[in-house]
This record gives sequence, structure tokens and C-alpha cells, in this order.
Amino acid sequence: MKDLDKTKAQLIKELQETRQELISVTALKSAEASKHKQIKNILLESPERLDFFVENSPLAIIEWDSNFVVTKWTGNSEKIFGWSSDETIGISVMDLNMIYETDISIVQNSIDMLTHGINTHVVSINRNYRKDKKIIYCEWHNTALKDQNGNLLYVLSEVLDITDRKRTEEELIKAKEKAEESDRLKTAFIANMSHEIRTPMNGILGFAELLKEPNLSGEEQHEYIKIIEKSGARMLNIINDIIDISKIESGLIKVNINESNINSQIDYIYTFFKPEVERKGMKLIRRSSLPDKEAIIKTDREKLFAILTNLVMNAIKYSEQGSIEFGYEKKYEYLEFYVKDSGIGIKKERLTAIFERFVQEDISDVKARQGAGLGLTITKSYVEMLGGEIWVESEIGVGSTFYFTIPFDKAEDNQLIHWKRSIKNHIGHVANLKILIVEDDEISEYLVNEGVKIFGKEILKATTGDQAIETCRNNSDIDLVLMDIQLPILNGYEATQQIRQFNKDVVIIAQTAYGLFGDREKAIKAGCNDYLSKPIDKSELHSLISKHCKIKDCIERIGLQIL
Ligand code: ADP
Repeated sequence: MKDLDKTKAQLIKELQETRQELISVTALKSAEASKHKQIKNILLESPERLDFFVENSPLAIIEWDSNFVVTKWTGNSEKIFGWSSDETIGISVMDLNMIYETDISIVQNSIDMLTHGINTHVVSINRNYRKDKKIIYCEWHNTALKDQNGNLLYVLSEVLDITDRKRTEEELIKAKEKAEESDRLKTAFIANMSHEIRTPMNGILGFAELLKEPNLSGEEQHEYIKIIEKSGARMLNIINDIIDISKIESGLIKVNINESNINSQIDYIYTFFKPEVERKGMKLIRRSSLPDKEAIIKTDREKLFAILTNLVMNAIKYSEQGSIEFGYEKKYEYLEFYVKDSGIGIKKERLTAIFERFVQEDISDVKARQGAGLGLTITKSYVEMLGGEIWVESEIGVGSTFYFTIPFDKAEDNQLIHWKRSIKNHIGHVANLKILIVEDDEISEYLVNEGVKIFGKEILKATTGDQAIETCRNNSDIDLVLMDIQLPILNGYEATQQIRQFNKDVVIIAQTAYGLFGDREKAIKAGCNDYLSKPIDKSELHSLISKHCKIKDCIERIGLQIL
């Protein structure tokens, strides 16, 4: 019984102890809670709250002292500049080399204003380097803290990364300048073009009128016709230039890489321009520095030809005496071409501008007005398409030398052998072709006839697509069809497609009036072997006929060379 009493008393004691413990735990918990609440209140009402915002700010927040030593590096600083606070605190901002060289004066200026000026807040925009050396645009809001004597103690910089905004601004400015420039050039172009087109047009109409006069001597008639021809050629040049420029600008001109003997090109240009240069009492000199065997390279033959021709033509146009020399030299993996004249020269400040659209050396220069100011722009675009560069050295009154480079991409030797063999094979064929001219316009038909009669033993005519098909069906021995495309009812492409159904061998050359991009592709797709744009250039017509109809002796007879 005694034991039982003891156990009961013990249990009561233990219970009391447990209760006491429970009371103290609860008290503790409530004490903690109230402490937490207290801290929370302190945070909400104290400067620590500001720390929270500062640390989470999208701005870089940097404090530095009067010696530029960083004392705080917080906010978004690490993300914006790449350095952590450990890498910057205690270091001079200047030692971080974060100021973009050309913007040093902007920064210096705002430091001076903070140190010596009355303003305690200075805003500046400048470029900075990040730790990884990337350049960023920053907007710095600097606030100075000074002592009562006005000495600078600390500066707080709040920095916003405005790189994206700045880039957009720059792009907008560029676009605006480009639009203004285009507008200016367009106005200059219209003024220039109307002059350029009017002048040859006056020549054509004026002298055509004069030709009607009775009692003209044969010599006078011949002279007037020559002027009409020259004016027509000049107008055609202008139109071709405009078409070329618009094709270049809309990215429609493709590079067509083939093999080209540059010595032959140099020789051809030399032969072509020599009479004109000599007529002016000047001398034309050519220089090919590679032996023929090594002068076959892979490039766009037509573009190289156009570049050289344009530069030589300018050299002739802008020189009155002395000599014009052109040629090339091999320099490492490039060929460096040059066209040197002893002409009027170009002012130093215009040496780059002359390669821009519609820009002429000096608008008041009467001689400069002979062109549209497009030739060098086209030339430069072609050089760049071929992977080269163009530049000019010039001295007023002494002359100019235009240089350009193209990659020296040598053609295979066996191509040269093949080339020679194929030319050899063609020698011996005679010009006795049976030719069909398909043309509905009388004058065009007359011109084509004049151009091809040297090759023809028999020339047939058709004025519609249907007639062309019929004539081919009845004359399976026709060698060549010169197919106009603009025909009534059945056009030239459709007629060609039908002829191809029963005659795969006859050579068909299309002639179109537009000379636009895609004509060639359309003609080939329809089944033509090649394509010519109107007005038909006689030498182009001859070289196409010789290319497709294999009559080398004719080429020699008319003094043409295969380029
Ligand atoms: P243009 O049709 O006016 O000749 P270009 O684009 O070929 O146009 O040339 C632009 C300008 O560059 C010319 O108007 C001329 O003033 C100058 N120029 C070009 N080539 C020469 C040169 N060989 N000598 C002197 N000036 C030249």
C-alpha cells in the first residue's frame, strides 16, 4: 500500500513538471513570434528596407569615394558590367579600364562638374567596356556627397544599360540618313537623266529632220547618219546603265563563273579601243604579265570585260593627250588590274565619292556631264561581286590610275587543251547556214538580216509564231532560227517549245526587247540555245552564231576573237 502511495505521488510530480515545461515552451514561442514581428516592423520602417530595393534594382548601383575607389558595388552591377563586388570594392574605378577611349572626355567632364560644379547631380551617356571587353552604352546618374566645405566625399552612380535603345536609335538615324540621301540622289538623278536623255534625243530628232532636206551631199548625209548613230548608242548606254543599277540594287545580278583568258580580253579591248584613242592623237598601251597558258582563270568573263571596258572608256573620255595604259599583274593570290591615263585627274576629296551612284567629279565640269555618273558604281559593284576591291589614285592635271583586284583562281590546264582542240575542230567549216528570221517588225527584221547575211547561204523569213513552226517543219535542214519573242498570238517562247517537239538540233537564238533579268532563263527553259537583247549588237550576234554554229573561219573573216 505504501508503494502504491509513493508511485501516485511521483506521477503527480512528473505531471506537474511536464505542465511547467509546456508553459515555458509556449511562452518561448510567443516571445520568438513577437521578436520576429518586431524585426519585421524594424525592416519596414528602417533603412534596411532600402537595401532590399537597392540589391534588387535593375540599375547598377556603385558608390565611390573622392579617390575613385569603389565602396559599394550592388544592384545590377555584376550583371551589367561583369565584375562581382569582391573584384571591385577597394579598387579604383579607373583601374577597371571600363571607359571607352573616345568617351573619356564625357566622363572627365561629368567628374569635373561633380567635383567643382555647384550641381550635385550629373547625368551622362557614354560607352563602357564590360569585364569581357564587350562595349555597352550606359546612362550614368551620378550624385555627389560633399562636406560642408564643398569637398567631394562620395559619389553614388546609378547606371542604366541602354545598349539596346541606343542601337535602335542608331539604326533609325542611319535609315533616316539613307532615306534623305536617296531622296537627294533621286532628285539629282532625275535632273541628270533628263539632261542625259534629252541631249542624244535632240541629236536623233534634229539630224533625222535635217536628213529630210533636199539637195544634201552624200558626205552630209553620211555625217548626219553618224551623229544619229552616236546619239542612239549613247542613249542605249544610259538605258543599259539604269537597268544594270536597278538589277544590282535589287540583288538580281548573279555571278556566272566560267573560264576566261584574260590575255585575250586585254587584246580584244586593245584592238577595239586603239582606233578611237589614236583618233584623239593619243597612244594605247597594254600589258599582260602572265604567259597565255597561265592567263586562263575562273571568273565572270562578262563582268570582268564590263569593268575593264568601263575604265578604259572613262580614261579615253577624260584624257586629251598623252597615253592610256592598261593591264594587270599577279600579286599573291590576286590579279591587280590597272587603267592609267594622263587626263584631267580627280580632286582628292572626290576620290571615294565618284564610286557612288549618280555622282560625278564636279557637276560644273562640262566634260563630266557626258555620262550619267553610274559607270563607276556599276564597275565597283561588279568588282565586289567578283571578290575584289577597286580604288583610284589621281592628281589634277596629271592623270588617274584606277586599280582593281580579282582573285587569281586558275583554270585547269586540261581545259586549255580542250579549248584549243575545239577551236581547231571548228576551223574549216564554211559559212553556209540556212537561217530563219522570225520577226514581225520590219525595221528589226531588216537589221537582223543585215547582221546575219555574212553567215547565210539561204535566209528564210517568218512574221508569226505559227509561220515559224510551219517553216521549220517544212525545212528540216534549217541551221539557225533567230526568234523574236514579242510575236502576236503565239509568242516566241511558245513557238520554240513547239519546234523543239520535232526538231531538237536546230540552233534557236531568242531576241527580246527588254534585256531584263530572267529573260535568258525563260528563253533557255523554252528550248532556245541562247538569248540576245534588242537592239541587237552585231558583234554579240556574231559571237553567239559562231559559238553555237561552229564556224570559226567566219569569226576570223569578220575579225572577231573568242574571248
Ligand atoms: P560618268 O558617266 O559621269 O563618266 P562614272 O561613274 O563613270 O560616270 O564616273 C564618275 C565621275 O568620275 C565622272 O563624272 C568623272 O568626273 C570622274 N572620272 C571617272 N573616271 C575618270 C578618269 N579616268 N579621269 C578623270 N575623272 C574621271
